[in-house]
Amino acid sequence: MTTTLNELFAVDRLFDEDELAIAGTVRDYVKRDIAPSLAQWYEEGQIPARELARGLGELGVLGMHLDGYGCAGTSAKAYGLACLELEAADSGLRSLVSVQGSLAMFAIWRWGSEEQKQEWLPRMAAGEAIGCFGLTEPDYGSNPGGMRTRARRDGDDWILTGNKMWITNGSVADVAVVWAQTGEQGDGSGVRGFVVPTDTPGFSAPAIKHKMSLRASVTSELVLDGVRLPASAMLPEAQGLRGPLSCLNEARFGIVFGAMGAARDCLETAIAYAGDRDIFDRPLSSFQLTQAKFADMALEYGKGVLLAAQLGGLKDAGALAPEQVSLGKLNNVREAIKIARNCRTVLGAAGITLEFPLMRHANNLESVLTYEGTSEVHQLIIGQALTGQAAYR
Ligand code: FAD
Repeated sequence: MTTTLNELFAVDRLFDEDELAIAGTVRDYVKRDIAPSLAQWYEEGQIPARELARGLGELGVLGMHLDGYGCAGTSAKAYGLACLELEAADSGLRSLVSVQGSLAMFAIWRWGSEEQKQEWLPRMAAGEAIGCFGLTEPDYGSNPGGMRTRARRDGDDWILTGNKMWITNGSVADVAVVWAQTGEQGDGSGVRGFVVPTDTPGFSAPAIKHKMSLRASVTSELVLDGVRLPASAMLPEAQGLRGPLSCLNEARFGIVFGAMGAARDCLETAIAYAGDRDIFDRPLSSFQLTQAKFADMALEYGKGVLLAAQLGGLKDAGALAPEQVSLGKLNNVREAIKIARNCRTVLGAAGITLEFPLMRHANNLESVLTYEGTSEVHQLIIGQALTGQAAYR
């Protein structure tokens, strides 16, 4: 008689029936349609992004927590659970969905004009159009306020010039939400967002190769070489860094849940393996040292899910502060990567291959640790909340 991780923490009691039903649907879909191909995609560093996006659109997870324009309007907790199930398969899959729904679609939904919403959101929700979100630059990652990408006026038009780096979905996107400096302040206050169809002359998005992490995800550079856009391409409601930071907050929320999905998959794999593997004539799972590992990791998993559910409840109540999202992102990614590495030790040599998901998750989580605010940036956000002192510079 054994207890599952979720039973141990009575996880089901943290969510309502609809939320659990959505999680179950996503879990079944991922298991059936995606999981069998993941190791191959990861090894080849290629994903069938269009096909995947259409399938995920049919499943209803793209922008699922947004209202209207073909989006499902689910609770934040349901969205979080969907992220958890997607990342239990692969962080790259969850990244595709996060960037589409929480970054590109959210930017248009929250800050866009009615015309921009009508044009893009229904197609993006259906997975017929893929979006990306260009904030980071080669020289400005944790400090996007210094960005060099410039938008200058030419009559009524805008001309965009600059480079964005490490952009998820970039090479496969139909539309890019690009953040650019319109003034000379250099402090972020002149930052505006632009909705850029990727077939606009001057736009290109070369893929970044040789990644050791998130190999089942497209990561690209965006080159903006005098991209001419009509005045209507600017997101009218977003001024300054508040615009992009609001989107990051959405995506970070999904990661709080998602990271626990990767952790759960690692733990379930390691527990099952240890039960089957005989060492010194007994199952590996029967040794005290192994059980101590599992107990400690299960505890961190459970604490992470409890934290995620608490933040989800706050988000659904409209009461979630950015520093609370930082608590979740910092803790859950940090613990998930420890769990992935520790579970890998349980499998010994077998843990290093793609036959098992441990190293794939651990390597993926290196990116997750870095994007959407590094651990250090989240420590600084929490530190500022606790002390009232900003220590970024
Ligand atoms: P840096 O900012 O150069 O940081 C280097 C180190 O310095 C880090 O450890 C950091 O924590 C530390 N540091 C920074 N500031 C401080 C400080 N004040 N005190 C102490 N330490 C500090 N960006 C997008 O815009 N869109 C995307 O879709 C996107 N997708 C990504 C996908 C992948 C696979 C990856 C890896 C990145 C992606 N990013 C994306 C970029 C990501 O957001 C940045 O990598 C991240 O913000 C960190 O920036 P950086 O890599 O330039 O590191």
